[in-house]
Amino acid sequence: MQRLDRVVIVGGGPVGLTAALALGQSGVPVTLFEHYATPFEDPRAATLHPPSLEMLSALGAGEEVIRRGLVAPRFQFRDRATFEVVATFDLAHIADATAHPYCVQCEQHKVAAALLDLIGSGKWDIEINLGTTVSSVAQDGDGVMITAAGPQGEIAVRAPWILGADGGRSTVRKALGIEFEGFTWRERFLVVTTPFDFRTTFGFEYRNYLSDPAEWCALFKVPGFTPEGHWRVVFPTPPEETDEEVLSDASILRRLTGAFGGSARDFPVMHRNLYIVNQRVAARFRKGRAFLAGDAAHVNNPLGGLGMNSGIHDAVNLAGKLAAVWHGRVPGAAAEDLLDRYHRQRHTVAHEFVQAQTIRNKQTLEERDPEVRARALAHLRATAADPKRARPYLMNTSLLASITRADAIP
Ligand SMILES: Cc1cc2nc3c(=O)[nH]c(=O)nc-3n(C[C@H](O)[C@H](O)[C@H](O)COP(=O)(O)OP(=O)(O)OC[C@H]3O[C@@H](n4cnc5c(N)ncnc54)[C@H](O)[C@@H]3O)c2cc1C
Repeated sequence: MQRLDRVVIVGGGPVGLTAALALGQSGVPVTLFEHYATPFEDPRAATLHPPSLEMLSALGAGEEVIRRGLVAPRFQFRDRATFEVVATFDLAHIADATAHPYCVQCEQHKVAAALLDLIGSGKWDIEINLGTTVSSVAQDGDGVMITAAGPQGEIAVRAPWILGADGGRSTVRKALGIEFEGFTWRERFLVVTTPFDFRTTFGFEYRNYLSDPAEWCALFKVPGFTPEGHWRVVFPTPPEETDEEVLSDASILRRLTGAFGGSARDFPVMHRNLYIVNQRVAARFRKGRAFLAGDAAHVNNPLGGLGMNSGIHDAVNLAGKLAAVWHGRVPGAAAEDLLDRYHRQRHTVAHEFVQAQTIRNKQTLEERDPEVRARALAHLRATAADPKRARPYLMNTSLLASITRADAIP
């Protein structure tokens, strides 16, 4: 077994790579293992909120992510049946609280690629092992034992600390026996990618939510790989429908034309993906010498675009604390408490902000009771129209308030 005097990170998604860069820049040597040979291009996260842009900018990756993305200062709620704009929220209302009063639509594999490029500059002691899968993790009082397999064959290493940033099915979390508490929604979410230009035709923003008691829908623009970019449309699908039915041309066309009118010619389908959707939070974000961050620690429905963002916030929070301990700036019991504080802070905001908001967003979009629905939409309309009410709403939905909340947790 090879002894590494380095922090080991499992998972090179946006969260693991952010943690690697933040630790490396703090003078902590890092070895990262990532299963894929290049960032996996599935259509998941695309929205970066202001605090994540601030953190990526502090790491030197913000400018590149903004350059590769689309700046989205506003988002819309509509009534799907009438197409009426219920509320348009403008992040200009929080311009006093952030250097980035806008979201950026940039696919997560491009965020990962931007981070990898920066790490590849070789300025920091960060070793990235792509195409390498970690299969087992165990720990004792002094360190963590990891086995992995990749282009270099089977590897067995021992390291003082490990971060599991290995996604919702985290090998690290399972190996540590940490409960993933929560539930799975009955519906799966269908994501359809099309070049149809919803902005020019219907005046949509780059981020939109369409409420409907029978079938809500969410609509986002992403840059893609063409100057025109493309759009992702998200629909809930009932458990009675099989995967084959949901992913068939007929069902996709029925859903698109049901929501937006037109015909098959209008909506060339570039990709179709179906996701099982969970709301779960790990019982502990730290166990001994192991930490969890990002989807390994918490998963949620994508309405609000909070999963990757809160994972980036985990990574930056943990890196600061682990670097302080690594460099011996915090001695003995205080070091233990500082590392436990990572759990206290990030576990709390995972529940209070990310879980609460994403569940509420889904409920608002799908509400069936006409009176409750009318009240919810009226509330959104009034909130967007009044800057005094829009500001706290945007502080929450952007997760800026979650950072202040976490900082206040001792
Ligand atoms: C449809 C959809 C839309 C979404 N939209 C948004 C959005 O707009 N904004 C937002 O913030 N979030 C969004 N999310 C959530 C977001 O995709 C996740 O929260 C985000 O990917 C989490 O990043 P991560 O790095 O923690 O995990 P992942 O991106 O899952 O990365 C984990 C990495 O670990 C690697 N790995 C796994 N196991 C091992 C192993 N044993 N050994 C080595 N490597 C391993 C994987 O290959 C992967 O690269 C969306 C999700 C979905 C499904």
